[in-house]
Amino acid sequence: MKHYKADMHIHTCLSPCADWGMSPKGIVERCCEKGLDIIAVCDHNSMDNLYAVMQVGEKWGLKVLPGMEICSKEEVHILGLFSEPEQARAMQKYVYAHLPGENKPDFFGYQVIADENDEVMGENPRLLIGATTLGIREIVEKTHALKGLSIASHVDRPAFGLISQLGFIPPDLPLDGVEVSYRISPRKAQKVIPGIKKLPCVTSSDAHYLDDIGRAWTEFIIAAPDFEEICLALQGIRGRRVVLDH
Ligand SMILES: [Zn+2]
Ligand SMILES: [Zn+2]
Repeated sequence: MKHYKADMHIHTCLSPCADWGMSPKGIVERCCEKGLDIIAVCDHNSMDNLYAVMQVGEKWGLKVLPGMEICSKEEVHILGLFSEPEQARAMQKYVYAHLPGENKPDFFGYQVIADENDEVMGENPRLLIGATTLGIREIVEKTHALKGLSIASHVDRPAFGLISQLGFIPPDLPLDGVEVSYRISPRKAQKVIPGIKKLPCVTSSDAHYLDDIGRAWTEFIIAAPDFEEICLALQGIRGRRVVLDH
């Protein structure tokens, strides 16, 4: 078993609210500088830049997991994390079928699709910043049907989180964990945020700018930097675990 540093919530220049500097090469280089071992690309309602970041990550020896930050009809953000890009692609297909609207780049921001050399391939025309017509439970269940992990984003934040939108964490919602932002430590969060004590708690940068990378990460004790090991750590089984204080 080894200690690994993971940041499982990083946006790319595909997210309209993220900086153009969040290019595949820019992200991977900065993550390596910060000593991260595992990251997940989690753009809003899309995974169009995943392959490019994975390709750069492979060159640099950084494990890049497929992910997506899905916005429910209640305006709750939920992270979907997957083992293989095909699973994220299937999730994207499901999300797109329930995501109305078109992007207005001048108003919401550009949604840049890039390749592994940071060349611009095009723009995503959908309203990625918008809410889907999917309920929270539908998102969690679809993620599980695709063998992914479903983690409630930034539950400590005053917007787009389970607590801010619903006022509580539905106890029967089969989440695999909750995420807190860099503003609070998981240890403190478990003391002060009602309803999360029993759930595995991770923290991520939710980076939209290169300078955000490294402001929070989760430390895992696992046998290898991969999705299956992270699943075991979240369950706290077979000697794998999340380190709450680091
Ligand atoms: Zn979010
Ligand atoms: Zn985010």
